[in-house]
This record gives sequence, structure tokens and C-alpha cells, in this order.
Amino acid sequence: MTTNPLHAPSSALRAAPTRLDVAIVGAGFGGMYAVYKFRQMGLKIQGFEAGGDVGGVWYWNRYPGARVDLPSIDYSFAFSPEIEQEWTWSEQFAAQPELLRYINFVADRLDLRRHIQFNTRVCSAVWDEPRALWVVKTDRGDVYEATYCVMATGPLSVPKDPEIPGLDRYRGRLLRAARWPHEPVRFEGQRVGVIGTGSTGIQIVQEVGKEAGELFVFQRTPSFTMPMRNEALTPDYVAEVKRHYAGIRESARNSAVGGTRPQSTRAFFSVTPNQRRQLLEDAWKNGGLAMLGTFSDLLTNPEANEHVAEFVRGKIGEVVQDPVTAEKLKPRDYPIFARRPCLDTSYYETYNRPNVHLVDCLNDPILEITEKGVRTQSGEVELDVLILATGYDGLTGALLAFDVVGREGRTVNDKWKDGARSHLGLMMEGFPNLFMTTGPNGPAALANIIRISEHDVDWIAAAMTHMAQNGLSTIEPTAETEQRWMDIVFALSQRSLLLKAKTWYVGANVKDKPQGLTLFTGGFAKYREYCTAAAQDGYRAFTFTHAKEAVGA
Ligand SMILES: Cc1cc2nc3c(=O)[nH]c(=O)nc-3n(C[C@H](O)[C@H](O)[C@H](O)COP(=O)(O)OP(=O)(O)OC[C@H]3O[C@@H](n4cnc5c(N)ncnc54)[C@H](O)[C@@H]3O)c2cc1C
Repeated sequence: MTTNPLHAPSSALRAAPTRLDVAIVGAGFGGMYAVYKFRQMGLKIQGFEAGGDVGGVWYWNRYPGARVDLPSIDYSFAFSPEIEQEWTWSEQFAAQPELLRYINFVADRLDLRRHIQFNTRVCSAVWDEPRALWVVKTDRGDVYEATYCVMATGPLSVPKDPEIPGLDRYRGRLLRAARWPHEPVRFEGQRVGVIGTGSTGIQIVQEVGKEAGELFVFQRTPSFTMPMRNEALTPDYVAEVKRHYAGIRESARNSAVGGTRPQSTRAFFSVTPNQRRQLLEDAWKNGGLAMLGTFSDLLTNPEANEHVAEFVRGKIGEVVQDPVTAEKLKPRDYPIFARRPCLDTSYYETYNRPNVHLVDCLNDPILEITEKGVRTQSGEVELDVLILATGYDGLTGALLAFDVVGREGRTVNDKWKDGARSHLGLMMEGFPNLFMTTGPNGPAALANIIRISEHDVDWIAAAMTHMAQNGLSTIEPTAETEQRWMDIVFALSQRSLLLKAKTWYVGANVKDKPQGLTLFTGGFAKYREYCTAAAQDGYRAFTFTHAKEAVGA
């Protein structure tokens, strides 16, 4: 019998607790692909997922109106040509039920579930330096030992309640968007409140507004949202896509956004005012994120950005009939696209309904949640249902939520106390053999996450193969390597208007969180180049140990 050089040593396999090659935390898109990939490599793997099934974000977020803001064709796995042919998307922008059906189809088709423990939260991962392995403990009391630990824990998986006193006093029905019940929720005749007007709040408002007796939208920061113009995909279109998937994927991998969204090299002021206006009108009519790709400098040139912001404010004024409400809905104090751009189907129109009321919390702040509803400065709004759409502890929250302890007892919490740091968003100095997918210093939320996840898992797999082929037992970036990467991330971020809004991108939505843009803003294609270079030069920027060098070995 031939032995796989990537396998855990057989002596360790015999020992309790359960010995693994790879522990994979999280079963969203990233974790699912990791399970598949490492199983293909013949490794002994175990996945862990806090939720009851696969799907990550799309398992948890079942709120009305939940829908992806990238074309479904892009927002899907590319690693399996068979699955691409077997699955047929029905809409340009799939809704959550269809996304979850797709995810389940993939899990069934590839028989992934048998490798994943559901309803299981990993509560600690501790590096055992003498034995050069990760000790992983779950909330079920199980202990695993793994050569590698892959954190596919998600950039937006730790929801955040609002910092408003009295939430526990509320006696009506409290619903969190990110922990939505699995059974249908009805709103007819109900007085409903929604706190939060980011992408999620917008999606909820436009659906619940149609049904609720009264809907009160508590808005602190208005968002810019653009028409999605979603449509059913015709059989001809789907057939065409299926014929050309290979090319579509290749161009996605080589684009800044990891998808088919057109990009432009045209600077805003390089064309006449009339042409600019026409291009913006076309983008508005075409829908989706077309507008962001219409000019090359909307995230770097404040003046160009303001022109586009004013164009969208004009559209809000055209749609919303009550001028006072329209004015409150117009964002004024941050650049457009600096908060995650939202796509809607009828958000602004919703405010023309007599049952929908906008509460402007900048001028009428929420003081507390009461037993009966929400008290703002101007009085109490009684509610049967209160929906929280108040966002996430983004990018870093999931890894900070449990004990991840590296060399010399240092935790990720220690390491990231002044902000997230890593090399390529993939690995951290001080945490050997620990990998992240869509980590906080990569392009994470700024490009198609499924393309990033696949890339990251492939990069991790190549590193593991390199180690197996060279008899290496640990890999870790040096402190200098990590610093160099952080310098690149920082330098790029200084040019970006993303810094100019108080968002989860910069940690501003979580009290006491270190502030700063730690995302790589150079685009997905450039990011891939950096990662490829890091491997192609023989991983020179990493330190390795040979099995015999491990302390105590
Ligand atoms: C409401 C919402 C809408 C979104 N819409 C879009 C969109 O339209 N377009 C887009 O590009 N992106 C969107 N995103 C971003 C989304 O995060 C990614 O697109 C993608 O789903 C991330 O996949 P993932 O596998 O990395 O993480 P996730 O899908 O978040 O999966 C991570 C999983 O890890 C599990 N986990 C975390 N910690 C532990 C632990 N300690 N133990 C066990 N399990 C753990 C979580 O339960 C979760 O299921 C959206 C996010 C949200 C929240």
C-alpha cells in the first residue's frame, strides 16, 4: 500500500483525541470548498459548523428579500465544470432560497456533509508547539488534533446588536435578520419596526413594507442604493453561459472584482458633462453595480465621486413623493460606494406607501427600547415586531469570538489589538499552520467572495503539497514579511475613499474596535499576483520547520 505523504503520522492517528490532517472551521462557501479540496488530496479532514447545515451566510440569513447583489452566474462555484452544467440559475440575482438550494445541491452532489459536524461551535484552537499541531475543542466537548487549521469562519458571520439600552426589556417579537426563523413569518396587520438601513435593512423594508399594517424604519445613516433590475434568466441565455463558463471564469479570475461586472479605464472628468450624464443614466437603467464600473476613479477622486452621489440623490428625489422624506433618505456625509453599495428592487418607492414611516434617528435619536417598542426623543413607537438589521462585527469578529492561541500563548485577540494583521490575509506570524479564507487583509468584501475563497483554498492546498514534498512540518510567515504586506495594504488604502465613511469596512460600527481600513484595495487580480509570487519564489518569505526540528520532537 502506498502512503500519502500529506497524511498525519500513523502514530498520531492511533492516539486519542481524534487526529486530523486538517480541521476546517465553518461550512459556508469557503469551508465547503476546503472540505472538497482537501478530501480530493486524500487528507484526513473534519469540518465544524455552528449552524445546522451548510451555507454560512445563506443558511442564517433567511429574512424576507434576502438576495445576492452579484449576478448568480458569478456568485457560484467555479471549481467543478460538472456542477456548472448541472445547475441552472433562474434569476440574474438569486434570492436566498435559491442560493440555499444551490448550496445544498453542491453538498449532496459532492457528498460533503459526512465530513462536517453541524450544530458544533469550535470554542478553542491552541497551537501545541512541542508536537507542532493544533488542538481544537468544540462546544460538544470533543477534542481534535490537527496538523493544519483552516479558518473559513466568514467575514460577516458575527451579528451585532445595536448599542441601545433596554433590548432585553422588549416584550413584542424580536427578530434578528442574521438569525431569522426557519418557519415563515407573517406581518399582516402588524406594527413592525426595522432598525438598520444597510443592505439587509433595505432588502427587508421593501418586502415587509408591502405586508405590514404599519412599518417604521429607524434610520441613522441613509444608504445609497441603486436599482437591481433583476430579471428571470431565459433558457437561451443560460445555455450560452453554460457554453462559455470556462472563459467567464477565466476573465473573472483576472478582473479586479472577481466577476463579470464591466470595469472602465475612463476617468470621470475625461468626458464631457453631457457624456457623463448619459453614462450615469445608462448605468441607472442597466441596474446592478454598473455605475461603480462606469468610471475608473470613483473610489479615489472625491470630486468625481460627489458628482455621482449627487446624481443618485437626484434619483431619490424623483422617486420619493414626499420631499421631506426624500431629503432624509439622501446620504450627505460620506462618499457614494464608501459604504457597501446596495441594490434594491423598490426601496425608495416603498416610502410612497401610506403605511411606511421613516424615523430619522439623526434628528430624532433612539433613546431606548421599551417593553412595548422603541422610544425616540420625540416619543414612543409601539411595535408588535422589532427587526434588527444592525450588521456584523465584520472581517475579524469570527476569529476574535473564540480562543485562537498561537506560539508562546499569544492569542489572535492580542495580535490584532491594534487592528487585523496577517500576510496576504492568509496566514499570521506567530500562528504556524493556521490559514484563513477571505481573511481581513485580503480583498474580502471588495470582490466576489466565492472567487476569493476558491483562490485561497487552492493556495493553501499548494502550500500543504509543497510541505509534504519537502518533508516540512510547519509554515509561518516571518514578522518582516507580514509587515511588508501590511505596508502595501496600508499604502493602497490611503488612496481609497473607503476610508471616509464610518462602516464595518473600517471597524467603525463596533464600539472600541481598532479603526482603519485593513482590506487589500488593489483588486482581486492584483491580489492573486501577490499570492502566486509568494509561492513561486519557493515560499522564501515563510519560515518552515522540518519534522525533526519541531521542538521536543
Ligand atoms: C446578509 C448578507 C448578505 C450578503 N450578500 C452578499 C452578496 O450579495 N454578495 C457578496 O459578494 N457577498 C455577500 N455577502 C458576504 C458573504 O459573507 C460572502 O459572500 C460569503 O457568503 C462568505 O462565505 P464564507 O464561507 O467565507 O463565510 P460564511 O458564509 O459566513 O460562513 C462561515 C461559517 O462559519 C461558521 N463559524 C464561524 N465561527 C465558527 C466557530 N467558531 N465554530 C463553528 N462554526 C463557525 C458560521 O456559522 C458560518 O456558517 C453577504 C453577507 C451577508 C451577511
